[in-house]
Amino acid sequence: MAVSVGIDLGTTFSAVAYIDPQTKLPKIIPNREGKNITPSVIQFVNGRAIFGSEAESAFNAGQSGCAATFKRGMGKSGAYCFIDDKSYTAEDLSALLLRRLKEDAEAELGDTIKDAVITVPAYFYSAEREATVRAANAAGIKVRKIIDEPNAAAMAYGLNNWRENANILVYDLGGGTFDVTLTRMGPNGDLSTITTRGNHLLGGRDWDDRIEQLLMDKFAAETGIDTHSGAGIKAMFRGMAEGVKKQLSAMQSVKVSASIPDFGSASVMVNRGEFEENTRDLLDRTVSLCNTVLSDAGLNIRDVTDVLLVGGSTRMPQVSRYILDMFGKKPITHVNPDEAVALGAAIQSTKENEPYAALAIQVMSDGKKVTAHSGLSSQVSVKPSQKLSSVGLLKLRETTAHAMGIIAVSTDGAGYINDIIIPANHPRPVRVAKAFAFYTSARGANEMEVYVLQGDKENPLDNQIPYKYLVSGIQHVKGQKGKTIIKVQYSYDNNGIIQVQARQESGCGDLPIRKEPVPEDMSKYALPIDPAEFLKPEPLNVVMAVDVSGSMDGDPLRAAQNAMCDFIRNMDFSFTRVGILAVSDRTAEITGLTDNEDACIRAIQSITSGQTGYCNSAHPFTDIRNMLADEDGRRFAVILADGVWRCQEAAIAAAKQCNHAEIETAAIGFGKADKKFLQDISSKDANALLVSQSELTSAFGTIAQSLGAAAQSGLDRSAADTETWDD
Ligand code: ADP
Ligand code: MG
Repeated sequence: MAVSVGIDLGTTFSAVAYIDPQTKLPKIIPNREGKNITPSVIQFVNGRAIFGSEAESAFNAGQSGCAATFKRGMGKSGAYCFIDDKSYTAEDLSALLLRRLKEDAEAELGDTIKDAVITVPAYFYSAEREATVRAANAAGIKVRKIIDEPNAAAMAYGLNNWRENANILVYDLGGGTFDVTLTRMGPNGDLSTITTRGNHLLGGRDWDDRIEQLLMDKFAAETGIDTHSGAGIKAMFRGMAEGVKKQLSAMQSVKVSASIPDFGSASVMVNRGEFEENTRDLLDRTVSLCNTVLSDAGLNIRDVTDVLLVGGSTRMPQVSRYILDMFGKKPITHVNPDEAVALGAAIQSTKENEPYAALAIQVMSDGKKVTAHSGLSSQVSVKPSQKLSSVGLLKLRETTAHAMGIIAVSTDGAGYINDIIIPANHPRPVRVAKAFAFYTSARGANEMEVYVLQGDKENPLDNQIPYKYLVSGIQHVKGQKGKTIIKVQYSYDNNGIIQVQARQESGCGDLPIRKEPVPEDMSKYALPIDPAEFLKPEPLNVVMAVDVSGSMDGDPLRAAQNAMCDFIRNMDFSFTRVGILAVSDRTAEITGLTDNEDACIRAIQSITSGQTGYCNSAHPFTDIRNMLADEDGRRFAVILADGVWRCQEAAIAAAKQCNHAEIETAAIGFGKADKKFLQDISSKDANALLVSQSELTSAFGTIAQSLGAAAQSGLDRSAADTETWDD
């Protein structure tokens, strides 16, 4: 029978655990060396990967071919390291390590591994979580769930120390990251994260750096040799630093000996007090994050029932002392910080995933969106600690460390902002959907770019942008200027991974979405909005049909040509195309749609009266429809009529067909034209203008102005809330 396991894939150490079928309790599965934890280090020797204590010793001795701390590079594209001319991504290395962990566990259990719950820092972004899932899959491990390390630790602790209504602060200081999570033990084994924060760039390594610096200073003072430069000497101190740090956790002072070039062997004393003095600011940074987590939750120090220490770096005595000073209580140290995370993951490996929750946010007076944490008052009494009778009682509710936002135009229209749609610390899984107006085109691919932001910085580019999501397969919409509604659903799934889905209002099912790397140049979202770009109007296509029957001969035609040329000069050809028709007994296309202003003027000037016959037996509406049939954007026709047409009925019917096909029509008449007919061939009465010859220019001007004004109103880019849907 295949088993489910929990895996703590750590930066420095990893561990695997499962639920022991006999005791029904979580248990560490030792590796092939019989050790409970496996160093997250790989050494490549002649292309062969070596793991375990051998790899660790090689790494500590500074041997070549070693890869370590690769968890830090998860989710980044590109090589994490080059070994023997071969490049490895962090994901490749994690996959190799995971395969090793799986093989060791299978050998130990004498069984195959069905699937695994893998832990990540709470602060891991979506891309890092996705990379973790891919690495596991590459290692032949099916991922049941990704959970957050502090939550896993709290679960392992809670199993034997359940205190209903207790607020537990999980202080997780690992090798490269710091996470602090406030979690609550509710009734019935219900463990929910209230708030969580993290610092990706703060961990045991920073303490190592300080020791390294201290050693350089001390050896320089001792020997008079400049120990601060030279790669070799740096590497030597670097190699010693972690060991010295660990010794200082057990001893008040450590004697460090080294062989200094041009000097010979020398030794210095490092004592705990000076180390602590030297690293006080690092500890301060962890504490200020604890305070932020409390204030995010609307709680104060007194509301913290217990502080749980997780992560190897919490073995430094300074951590416990600081916690005691700050919280007035001793932190809980009786969980093994090396194993608690894997044990908690094992507990979760027997659970079903949580269903999606409704979005529950509160908008504060300053416009900030937060999760409503109701019922967190410190009034509730904390029940005494008890052992839970079974792991089955434990339920985990996790929250998202990062707010999710979308790029939106600020209300004043001046720039782009991060519009937060799911606030940080919202329970997950959670989904929200937005509706966007999208203008489709008959030509070319209809694709919509979607960007998702992780973080709550106002400037979009100050946040994490996991991918460019490209929504394709959008159907062109005839009419409504090609406008359609695209609904986009944004989710944080059970693993804290962002999922984006899209649907078209008129379609059924999800549209295909491609994930692409975020373009290198996203600067357009950083700059103030260029109004010309933002208000870029929809394309405008205009057909002008001019009556060239005998009655237009001489002055009337000249006046009409002048007015039409004026109209052309009033149009903005950056988004407009114009075509010209002559009509009388027949129709003739003087020019097809063009965005060449001069060509339009020349076409108008080339018109002669009677060129399509001297009477009015034809109408232009069939040609107008044909010319505009396939055009995107706004489609408009202006008809200049003189006198009465013979085929009024047919003309009116054809004009109505144009209007039906979403072509707007306007009619300008002069001479003997009749107002009623002009109205009948116009798409609205206001578009019918009966004027004198001298008023032609101003009549065309009126129409030009209305077309321009409409174009300037810009596109509708706002996103409205809409119903979410199930997968
Ligand atoms: P991660 O989860 O990031 O892999 P761990 O929780 O395993 O990290 O912690 C590793 C870190 O803990 C390293 O920086 C290591 O130096 C530090 N560490 C381990 N043991 C001790 C100790 N006894 N004293 C001080 N630091 C320690
Ligand atoms: Mg860890």
